[in-house]
Amino acid sequence: MVPLDGTRRWATADVRLADGRVAEVAATIPAPAGAEIVDATDALVLPGFVQAHVHVVQSLVRNRAEGLALLPWLRERIWPYEAALSRGEVGAAARLGIAELLAGGTTTALDMGTTHDQDGIFAAADELGIRFASGKCHMDVGEGVPPGLLEDTDESLAEAERLGARWHGAAAGRLRYAVAPRFVLSCTRELMAGAVSLARRHGYLLHTHASENPVETALVREVSGMGNVEFLADLGIGGSDTVLAHCVHLEDHEIGLLAAHATGVAHCPGANLKLASGIADVPRLLAAGARIGLGADGPPCNNRLSVFHEMALAGTLHNLRYGACALDPWTVLELATCRGAAAIGLGDEIGSLQPGRRADVVVLRADTWAMEPGGDPAAMVVYGGGVASVRHVIVDGRVVVRDGELVSADAAAVRREARAAARAVADRLGWQ
Ligand SMILES: [Zn+2]
Repeated sequence: MVPLDGTRRWATADVRLADGRVAEVAATIPAPAGAEIVDATDALVLPGFVQAHVHVVQSLVRNRAEGLALLPWLRERIWPYEAALSRGEVGAAARLGIAELLAGGTTTALDMGTTHDQDGIFAAADELGIRFASGKCHMDVGEGVPPGLLEDTDESLAEAERLGARWHGAAAGRLRYAVAPRFVLSCTRELMAGAVSLARRHGYLLHTHASENPVETALVREVSGMGNVEFLADLGIGGSDTVLAHCVHLEDHEIGLLAAHATGVAHCPGANLKLASGIADVPRLLAAGARIGLGADGPPCNNRLSVFHEMALAGTLHNLRYGACALDPWTVLELATCRGAAAIGLGDEIGSLQPGRRADVVVLRADTWAMEPGGDPAAMVVYGGGVASVRHVIVDGRVVVRDGELVSADAAAVRREARAAARAVADRLGWQ
């Protein structure tokens, strides 16, 4: 067992879960009468993985948005796709994305939806059993935004207010609302101000993209006269209730701002490489004291939602600038567990296995070829782990993946509905 409890120790142990929480961790625990036994022989037991930035609603456009940098990728593929989604297709996309997350050992995700039909995304998270913070995306301005996504400012905020009232705290606190203006280039100042006010009034997270791409960051400076993170902070978007995805192109003083405000940062190396956005300076952000988690971002910019892919990249990518151990494997594993949990405001609830924490657990096979012959478990997971390593996944004490198979939903139906919906959307858009 690798508890990630502030130590970097591991030991052979039993874990007892009760009432959705970790009840006990000890070398040997006699099975209470009637207890369900989850076998973790020859396996690594860890807290469930946390992703600090995903878009499950984009799942149906995976493998249909290749070879583009951020702004043309959004304008030519992602926005037309999101605008074309029907209510049922939003649900099918969310079920596919959430199934992939759970089957890959991710038990908690901070997600951004599209402008419409956010109820279907929460309903999918409720049904499949993931711990999930999400919010409708806000867009009320912007070059290349299709009419189907362009919202009236007041109506957009009113819809978020309705969604937060319905979903925040639902499923015994497993679901949470996050106010999600897409990025500076698609939101008026009025919308941003309204989003901040809404989030602070209700205690919701604020979640947006920042400084992902050099063209985007230059455009933000043109419209605001400031750096992107600086401008957001000026609008009130910063602090321990805020998570900014990417933060690749930062000005020096913005690193200090992120650390001083304790703003969460979602590091998304897979997406940043695929869209040729750049490499976030995570070692420097960590040294400054920033709170950081990992995220796969969207299925069409990665093209997978595997926390293992992000860990392997985070553990190697920064060596180009800083040398052979820019981020040691324990730090990387913490980004995917306890540090990621803290970055999205759940550091006291999840991200480590100790009594009182939520019963979110992942059991990884230790007998895959890339894990053998054992050794440092952080190195095993970061460099040798993969979706195929996942044996069992438990969220809130409920087994959602057993022996590598999703059991909280009909996996064949999730696949069948996603394929049919993806085909239907592509046909409407005239795409192959
Ligand atoms: Zn994103």
